[in-house]
Amino acid sequence: MQTESITETVDVAIIGGGAAGLMCAIEAGKRGRTVAVIEHADQIGKKILISGGGRCNFTNLKAGPSSFLSSNPHFCKSALARYTPADFIALVDKHRIKYHEKKDGQLFCDHRAHEITRMLEKECREAGVKVFLETRVSGIRHEGSFLVQTNRGEFRSSSLVIATGGLSIPKIGATAFGYDVARQFGLKLVEPIPGLVPLVMSESFLRVFGSLSGVSLDVRITCGNRSFDDAMLFTHRGLSGPAILQISSYWKPGSSLEIDLLKKGADGITRTPEERRYLSTLLGVLHPKKFAQCFCDHAFENKPVAQYSEREWNEILRVLRTWRVEPVTTEGFSKAEVTLGGVDTKELSSKTMEALNVPGLYFIGEVVDVTGHLGGFNFQWAWSSGYAAGQYA
Ligand SMILES: Cc1cc2nc3c(=O)[nH]c(=O)nc-3n(C[C@H](O)[C@H](O)[C@H](O)COP(=O)(O)OP(=O)(O)OC[C@H]3O[C@@H](n4cnc5c(N)ncnc54)[C@H](O)[C@@H]3O)c2cc1C
Repeated sequence: MQTESITETVDVAIIGGGAAGLMCAIEAGKRGRTVAVIEHADQIGKKILISGGGRCNFTNLKAGPSSFLSSNPHFCKSALARYTPADFIALVDKHRIKYHEKKDGQLFCDHRAHEITRMLEKECREAGVKVFLETRVSGIRHEGSFLVQTNRGEFRSSSLVIATGGLSIPKIGATAFGYDVARQFGLKLVEPIPGLVPLVMSESFLRVFGSLSGVSLDVRITCGNRSFDDAMLFTHRGLSGPAILQISSYWKPGSSLEIDLLKKGADGITRTPEERRYLSTLLGVLHPKKFAQCFCDHAFENKPVAQYSEREWNEILRVLRTWRVEPVTTEGFSKAEVTLGGVDTKELSSKTMEALNVPGLYFIGEVVDVTGHLGGFNFQWAWSSGYAAGQYA
C-alpha cells in the first residue's frame, strides 16, 4: 500500500536498521548530523531479538582480532580498538540492563534481548535519528549526493551507509542488497558463504550415528590449525553444537575434521589386567552411554578392556584422540548464524569504513568481509564498525 510520498534530505542515510546501522546512526546523530535509517522490516533489530537464544550475547570480554575471520586479518583491529567491549558495556550499564557472563567472556542479558533494541531505539531518539520502517529501496543513484528511491519516496544524503547484514536467515529479512550495492559501485566481493552453521553428514555416517540425534559430547575439534573445545551435538542430518558451529567457519568442502574424544586426557579409561569392564562402559564414564556403546560397537571390537593387547590398546587410544569425520556440506544460509565473506576489506578504509574509491559511501557490520567466532564477537564487530563510520559519515 503506497502511503504519502516523502522527500527527505539528510546528512546521512543508513540502509539497514540492525546492530551496526543503529550504532552508526546514534554516533552520527550525536555529532549533530541529520540521520535517516531505512529499514525494510516492520521493526528494527530483528536479529538482535532472536540472538543468543533470546538473551542476546551482546559482546565478548575477550574480543580481539584473533577471534575474527577475514581475507585481511588486520582490517578489524582499528575499529575494535576504538570501540571496545568496555564501551558497549558502559552503554548497557547506562540503561541499567542487567547481564551476566555465561562463559569465556560471553556477556548475555539476564532478561530479554529486546532490552538491547529498546536501548538502541532510545539512543536513536535522543540523537534525533529518524527511523523509517517498511521502507523498501528500489534504486540508488549517485549524483554528487546519494539518491535512494524507496516505496515511500526519496532520500537524498551526502553520506550513504550500507548496513544490511549478510545472507543468514532470509526468513527474517536477510538480503543480498549490500553486495548488489557494492557491485553497483565497482567494489570487489569475497564470495559470501554460510558460517557458524551445522554440518550435514553422509548417509553412511547417519546409518551408524543417526540414532544419536540430540546427544551432546564435550570434545576438541580440529580443522587445519584451528581447534575448539566445546560441546558437539548429533542431529538427524549430521553435527551441530558450539564446537561444530565454530569449526564450520574454517571447514571447506572435501576436507575432514578431527575429533578428540579424550581432550581431558585418558584418565578413567586405563587398561589394567584386572579391568573386566567393556571398553564401551569405560568410555561411558567420559561421554553419554548411548554414544559410547554406539561408537565402540562401530569402531572397535568391543570387549573387556583387559583382553586387548598393548598394540590394540594403543590403537584404540589413537582412534579416540583422532576420530576423523568428513562432512558433506553445511546446512546453508537458512541455518547459518553468520555470513563469511562480503565486501572486500581492500575496498574500505579500516579507520572510517568508507569506500576508498567512492567518497561518502560506507559499509559496516556483517556485510563486510569480517566475521567473528561464536560468543558475542559478531555483535562487537557490528558495534565497533558502526561506531567507526558514525564518527565520519
Ligand atoms: C539466530 C542467530 C543468533 C545470533 N546470535 C548472536 C549472538 O548472540 N551474539 C552475536 O554476537 N552474534 C549473534 N548472531 C550474529 C549477529 O546477529 C549478526 O552478526 C549481527 O546482527 C550483524 O549486524 P548487522 O547490523 O551487520 O546486520 P543485521 O543485524 O542482519 O541487520 C541488517 C538489517 O538490514 C535490514 N535489511 C536487509 N536488507 C535490506 C534492504 N534491502 N533494505 C532495507 N533494510 C534491509 C534487515 O532487515 C536488518 O534489520 C546471531 C545470528 C543469528 C542468525
